[in-house]
Amino acid sequence: MPDFIHAVCPQCRAVNRIQSGLLDSGPVCGKCRAPILAPHPVTLTAANFDAVVTKSDLPVLVDFWAPWCAPCRSMAPAYDQAAAMLHPRVILAKCDTQAEQAIASRLHIQGVPTMVLFAGGTEKGRISGARSAADIVAWVRQNV
Ligand code: ZN
Repeated sequence: MPDFIHAVCPQCRAVNRIQSGLLDSGPVCGKCRAPILAPHPVTLTAANFDAVVTKSDLPVLVDFWAPWCAPCRSMAPAYDQAAAMLHPRVILAKCDTQAEQAIASRLHIQGVPTMVLFAGGTEKGRISGARSAADIVAWVRQNV
């Protein structure tokens, strides 16, 4: 792990430089004071998707879901748990494919839930279907 990492504020998209030793200490954005790298999933929209996925030094896992999808809703608590387990080494995010159809289409999301793992802005893998927290964590650790 380098001395500093760059993390994007999900609220204002500012790129923050954070000491690696302080990742776990509840950092806030230097610009807007919103919490960054909190141990729960962040919401991605057209406004912040590219910034968070391409400008974060940490890997980013995105859960593509939809409000009408029962397996997505039932996986939500497991995903929250996985976010806490992978914190602060991996950023977990959620993208509502019904609200953000352009992103889902660009990434060829065929069904929900689909989880896509990015590192350095590049896709490292994807899995479809609801998973347990332990399965999500194991899959991410194998792929980063
Ligand atoms: Zn901010």
